[in-house]
Parts: sequence; C-alpha cells; structure tokens
Amino acid sequence: MTDMVLRTEGLSKSFGGVHAVDGCTLGFRRGGITGLIGPNGAGKSTLFHMIAGLHVPDSGKVYVEEEDVTGFAAHKLFLRGVSRTFQLAHEFSGMTVWENLLVSAPFQPGERLWNNWLQRSKVMGRESEIREEALEVLDFLKLSPLRDEMAGRLSGGQKKLLELGRVMMGRPHVVLLDEIAAGINPLLMKEIGDMIVKLNEEKGYSFCVIEHDMEIVERLCDHVIVLVRGRVLKEGSIEEVRSDAGVQESYLGG
Ligand code: ADP
Ligand code: MG
Repeated sequence: MTDMVLRTEGLSKSFGGVHAVDGCTLGFRRGGITGLIGPNGAGKSTLFHMIAGLHVPDSGKVYVEEEDVTGFAAHKLFLRGVSRTFQLAHEFSGMTVWENLLVSAPFQPGERLWNNWLQRSKVMGRESEIREEALEVLDFLKLSPLRDEMAGRLSGGQKKLLELGRVMMGRPHVVLLDEIAAGINPLLMKEIGDMIVKLNEEKGYSFCVIEHDMEIVERLCDHVIVLVRGRVLKEGSIEEVRSDAGVQESYLGG
C-alpha cells in the first residue's frame, strides 16, 4: 500500500438514517490522477469532506503518507499537503487575484503582531518568499495579465484557475477537486484540464477528481473508483470500469 499517497480504511458517515459513506476502503496513488465517479447521492462529496477534515467520520481511518490523520481539522490537513479547491468565497471576491494568492500561503509569520516586531528579518524573508511563489503561480497558470483584477470580476473559468492557484500556494501533495467542470464552458475546461495534467507531471501533485463528465475523466484519470450508495462498487482503469456489468447497471439501470 506504500504507493498510496492517501488512503482510507472502512470509512463511514451517516446523516440521520442515511449511510452516505458506508465502509469505504480506497486509496489515491502517489503521482496519479484518480477519478471518483458514481451517481448523484453516491457519497462522493461526503467522502471528500471526511478526507479534507470538514466532516468527522463515524468510523474508519484516513491515512496521509501512512500517517493516521483521521478527524484532523482542515487547516491541519492543509499543512500536511491535503488541499481541496475552495469555491472562491464571497470575502475573497473583493480582493485582487494577486491578494488572493498571497493570503492562501501557509505560515505567514506576519500574522502575529509580535513576530513583526521581534523577528523582523524572518517575517520579511517569508513574505518575499510568498511573493516569489505567487509570481511563479501566476506565470504557471497564465494569469499574470489578470494580476490586479478583482477576483469577483473574473469569468467562471478564470475563477477556477485562481482556485487552482490558491491550492498551489499551499504546496500540496494531494489535491481534491469536486466537480470543477460544473458551470464552465468546454473550452476553458480543456485549458483547466491541461493545467491539471501539467501540475501532475511537472510538479508531481497527486489528484483525486470527482467528475460527472466522463470525457474529462477519460482524459485526465489513470485510475477510476466507482462509488455507489456509499460503497466502492468497482475500481480499475477506465476500460475495466466501463466494461463492468455492475457499473453499467448502476448508471443505466439505476
Ligand atoms: P454525491 O457527492 O456523490 O452526489 P453526497 O456525498 O453529496 O453524494 O451525498 C450522499 C448522501 O448523503 C445523499 O443521500 C445526501 O442527501 C446525504 N447528505 C450529504 N450531506 C448531507 C448533510 N450535510 N446532511 C444530511 N444529508 C447529507
Ligand atoms: Mg457531490
């Protein structure tokens, strides 16, 4: 199991009487792009929320690089390199693209006022490092021309790119993307897909992608996990999953 950057063991979560996630044991390969698919209500988002520290599981375990991180809060997981895209929140719309990137970097010693005073050179050092990283991110995502644009004024696709940029500022190992193609035009999705592949190949990020559009899954993912009614129904290559009778039944018959 050591080729897994992140894995779960018997992970479960119920809401009232609904077993949203029901004993899921699965893993995301280091350096891979894993697709998580399944019908609406299958438990995909709930699984992500448990992995990213937004829901505490009822039972089961989450491991990041074999460290038990079950029940860790989101910010703690973020520091261990687990990052999910934030839908660009309201309060960030009033900041520029550049400011959005700067505030997304972890460890900002300047946040503590006394640090500013006591450890001035350390604070300045980290701040210039963050600026350099933000410049690199802008360049990588081809967002440099939009640097001073208000985030709230970006197009849907540009907002998604900025979300990716904010994720990059955290220097993640594993990135969780929940239906990023929803509501953006196919041309921009193609661009964002290219970015994901580039981040995977050049920066070594591992991804897990929840996606309805199977063309996108096919283009991006080297491994697919099918979730149905909170359980793993099938796992394998696109071809293995596509030709599986149980998968076909749960999509077409359900
Ligand atoms: P998916 O992302 O695969 O569409 P979800 O994880 O969103 O599925 O939902 C799985 C099941 O859990 C659904 O039946 C959904 O109604 C239920 N559910 C998800 N989140 C909550 C919640 N916060 N409160 C109550 N029920 C929820
Ligand atoms: Mg969902």
